[in-house]
Amino acid sequence: MNRIGKLYFRYGTMGSAKTALLLTQAYNFEERGMRYLCMKPIIDDREKDNVIRSRIGIERRCEWIYPDTDIYSTIAEMYRKNNAVNDWILIDEAQFLNEQQVDQLARLVDDFGTNVVCYGLRTDFQSRMFEGSRRLFELADSIDEIKSTCSCGRKTIINARIDSTGQIVTDGDQVEIGGDDKYVALCRRCWRDRRIASANRNALRFEASNSQ
Ligand SMILES: [Zn+2]
Repeated sequence: MNRIGKLYFRYGTMGSAKTALLLTQAYNFEERGMRYLCMKPIIDDREKDNVIRSRIGIERRCEWIYPDTDIYSTIAEMYRKNNAVNDWILIDEAQFLNEQQVDQLARLVDDFGTNVVCYGLRTDFQSRMFEGSRRLFELADSIDEIKSTCSCGRKTIINARIDSTGQIVTDGDQVEIGGDDKYVALCRRCWRDRRIASANRNALRFEASNSQ
């Protein structure tokens, strides 16, 4: 097989329109009659309909990727059945892939010439890299940043987790199921300022409750 594919990683913070870009790409492939497939790691078992949805109102069907899914075998089997190879595979929330699954995607690119585009976050709410993202940085042929702007005008870097009162949360599990309202994308400086403000407010509350 002489087709040459590429493994792409396109990363950005939450709210940087990654999903909208993925769906726009899917739409363009349809227009041009190209074979493509959308996939997404499943993190919420309550999720029943397998679609990728964007806030701007478009959606496409997708295949779920479970933690134990062997993506290489699944896709290679599909190619055999269809007797055709896909031009493109688009993956949403790629930060939730595990290292082995990113390796499997790289192998798909190299063996079949399929282009694989992974959209995802670089880091979690504690500013640490996700497993899938780290492996993508290590292996991808092409890496680009989808930039978005903090309310102060700087580029967003951090996906900060917030509680119901808007205070920054610094402890907890890496993945917390729930709406986008639990997160806010911030530049590094605003993240620092807001963490200090949250810590001060908690300290004041602590003092107040102790002096009663
Ligand atoms: Zn800022």
